[in-house]
Amino acid sequence: MTKLGRTIKLRLYPDTNQADQFLAMSHEYQRLANLVSQWIFDHEFQLSWLKINHHLYKILRQGSPLNSQMVQSVFRTVVARYKTVQEQMKQHPYRYENEENKWIQVSKDLSWLVKPIQFHRPQADLVRQSNYSFVDKIRQISITTLGKRTKLGFTDKGFEKYFTGNWKLGTAKLVHNQGKWFLHIGITKGVPDFDQQGKPQIVGIDRGLRFLATTFDSEKRTLFFDGQKILRKRKKFLETRRQLQSKGTRSAKKKLKQLAQRENRWMTDVNHRLAKTLVVIYGSHTLFVLEDLTNVTFNTDDLPKALRNSHRSWSFFQLESFLTYKAQAIQSAVLKVSPAFTSQRCPKCGLVEKTNRHHETHEYWCQQCQYRCNDDRLGAINIEMLGRDWLSGIKHPKIKKLTTAG
Ligand SMILES: [Zn+2]
Repeated sequence: MTKLGRTIKLRLYPDTNQADQFLAMSHEYQRLANLVSQWIFDHEFQLSWLKINHHLYKILRQGSPLNSQMVQSVFRTVVARYKTVQEQMKQHPYRYENEENKWIQVSKDLSWLVKPIQFHRPQADLVRQSNYSFVDKIRQISITTLGKRTKLGFTDKGFEKYFTGNWKLGTAKLVHNQGKWFLHIGITKGVPDFDQQGKPQIVGIDRGLRFLATTFDSEKRTLFFDGQKILRKRKKFLETRRQLQSKGTRSAKKKLKQLAQRENRWMTDVNHRLAKTLVVIYGSHTLFVLEDLTNVTFNTDDLPKALRNSHRSWSFFQLESFLTYKAQAIQSAVLKVSPAFTSQRCPKCGLVEKTNRHHETHEYWCQQCQYRCNDDRLGAINIEMLGRDWLSGIKHPKIKKLTTAG
């Protein structure tokens, strides 16, 4: 079983009185969260829910209008935040050079924190049933406040499908944004795993800039997803950004911020649609194979000069994560393989040769067997092959460059 996770976002319609109650509750929740955070900081980062509950529950309940479940929700929220930070610190060890010019790596833990984690914004995490529930045949929602529970209307536009189809509703976050109120509900569902024994279809995906994606599948079909339009639009964004930067006024700064948000939203949308298209085309029981692009730089020859340094900001990783969660939902999977030599190996005779690739003409031409192919397609072919290697039992498939003697 694979556990799928999503967040559905409901727009809430509180009246003035209800909105005031939500705000008061969120402020109180934030205040307690900071108190709990301080306690954890002062007590050697004990993240045991039991211990925190034992030491703080009575005190907090006495001095706070939050009800019992909400106080415990505060404990869970603060502990979860510390655990996230703990995980992040583990992944970013401290490195330094010692007197013998050797690089030393020290793993970090929470004791490296110089102050408690701060909860800067009013917030409230609501537990299903205890703190929120759907009433009136799912036409209204009932939510805990500092006083009585209150009922109000909501819209679930775009998320309707999650109310059917066995999704399990979990904890919800009450969110206040630009005068509007939302409820973000975490939902989960168990689906069958990807079955790698049952001869899945394999799709190699080469990601790039000239083509956002080039795919090659088990039936030897190739698909190209054009990146030119995207590049042109990014160039336009860059020009507007430059103009605004040169102005330097306050209103220009505000516009710059809005522009960045717009570009982000647009990029997210592009990646979202591409992932969706791939999943729709290839369907369930597919192994999507991608290169692991951590620490990889791209050939930027095709880019307009202005964009050459900004290519890293293009979120290849976002596509990867979108594709992964969309694939999981339909019993497909995403595999990441080593990017070494995927653009240098001849699929016909196996020769790995850098000079076979001609960047100017976007062509791969094998010196040994005369095989010719578009260079983006070649990448996808080799990536697909690595997917086959993985299915045949090789744990970390990789193209190796064989050096011939003499
Ligand atoms: Zn060849």
